Amino acid sequence: MLGKQYYFDDFTEENYKRLIEKLTTNYKIIEFSYEDILKKDKVVLLRHDVDASLNRAYRLAQIEYGGGVKTTYFIHLHNMFYSILEQNQFMMIKNIIRMGHKIGLHFDFDFYKQTRDIGSGYALEEYAKQERKMLESLFEVSIDVVSFHNPEAAGVLNLQNEYYAGMVNAYSRVISECFKYCSDSNGYWRFERLEDVIDYGYDKLHILLHPEWWTPDLMSPYDRIRRCVIGRTDNILKSYDRLISSSGRENVGYNEEKVDLSGEVGNR
Ligand SMILES: [Zn+2]
Repeated sequence: MLGKQYYFDDFTEENYKRLIEKLTTNYKIIEFSYEDILKKDKVVLLRHDVDASLNRAYRLAQIEYGGGVKTTYFIHLHNMFYSILEQNQFMMIKNIIRMGHKIGLHFDFDFYKQTRDIGSGYALEEYAKQERKMLESLFEVSIDVVSFHNPEAAGVLNLQNEYYAGMVNAYSRVISECFKYCSDSNGYWRFERLEDVIDYGYDKLHILLHPEWWTPDLMSPYDRIRRCVIGRTDNILKSYDRLISSSGRENVGYNEEKVDLSGEVGNR
């Protein structure tokens, strides 16, 4: 079967719904606050690092909302797939918040290493504080938790304090030591399958999911990324066509056959 060794069929919306139901049967999903983290058992920190698609994040947020579940979505400010300042994408985050989910900062220290002449620890605190303020003022919520984007590349794997820039560090030593970790990085299970981890019955789970890997239909990780990129391109072109049409201008070179890119998706 297609991609069996990577469990492609784990990563569908339908299966996500099923996994959420299974998870909430046995566990309570908690926020990133040390009070809950340390005191209780049979708890889950369910976190989404939004690396490639706010649209997918919004869809997973809807599925969770339907199941009465609230999780935390970590937003990346230097992303090549989306910009949080763009109205449509801004509204995706706003609507995720409206459903009762939390927003955290997905902090990319590598951005500053590549673009500034900086020191190490102190600079990280400063820049994380600035990004925290940006998210707080844009979305009118408090940002209390941070996760590091691509920590290996950014050289921050060793930063295990409980807090950075006043935010709970999702990679703190205490969380790493107390919680069983499960991640879908790169579109497959890096260590163990989520379902196996749930079935095993650990006391505390820390689950990291990236929304772009969860799609309506079964497809390979590469096609899931391709789907994100083509979906965005398709939306941008259609928005442009609508704008030109509504302003009564001539859309020179416009061709019906060029309109719908979405048919491209899933053909591979
Ligand atoms: Zn990331």
